[in-house]
Amino acid sequence: MHLKRVELYGFKSFAERTTIEFRPGIVAVVGPNGSGKSNLVDAVRWVLGEQSAQRLRGGKMDDVIFSGSEGRRPVNVAEVSLVLDNAGGELAVDYAEVAVTRRLFRTGESEYLLNGTPVRLKDIEALLVDVGLGREAAFIIGQGEIDAVLSQRPEERRALFETVAGIAKYKARRKEAERKLEETAHNLARVEDVYEALA
Ligand code: ATP
Repeated sequence: MHLKRVELYGFKSFAERTTIEFRPGIVAVVGPNGSGKSNLVDAVRWVLGEQSAQRLRGGKMDDVIFSGSEGRRPVNVAEVSLVLDNAGGELAVDYAEVAVTRRLFRTGESEYLLNGTPVRLKDIEALLVDVGLGREAAFIIGQGEIDAVLSQRPEERRALFETVAGIAKYKARRKEAERKLEETAHNLARVEDVYEALA
């Protein structure tokens, strides 16, 4: 599986509909200062569900919407799609190509789409966690983050390695199973109470 292309419209400096193709292998994005290299990385983080405007180098979430430039009016919606190659079937859906889209309107409405169908962020996260992609995944190492990793406490660094190694998803599933077990035990205790009251 690899990222085939990123399609952007109205996201930060990408005012026009822009498609950036990625071939398998090493890809280098080069350009002058301020030309939008980091904005492209922000776009990838954003589609994967980033909820922190600060981590996208903004003050509030609608700062990601193109705010106008000399000779170009602002737009009212930002939309980014990541198109993933799924010919190998790594993602658990019956599509050879999977497009994950996030849209945000200036009015505050926002939506996520999977191959054009509206879905919840939770569904996208569940789909991508198996291939090590997701909001918390460490597949993007931003500027200055290497220093941050080096100065992490051992348990924080361990959590990072667990995510990269794919263990984190099992931990999350165990936590969810434990929560359900607890809920079931609680329900069972209530049923027993009712049963005793009726006996
Ligand atoms: P460097 O090499 O200096 O790190 P870069 O290529 O990574 O630069 P970016 O940080 O991606 O550059 O792009 C910064 C540009 O994006 C700035 O010119 C900024 O004005 C523009 N920009 C950011 N957000 C918006 C927005 N919402 N609307 C319009 N332009 C924006």
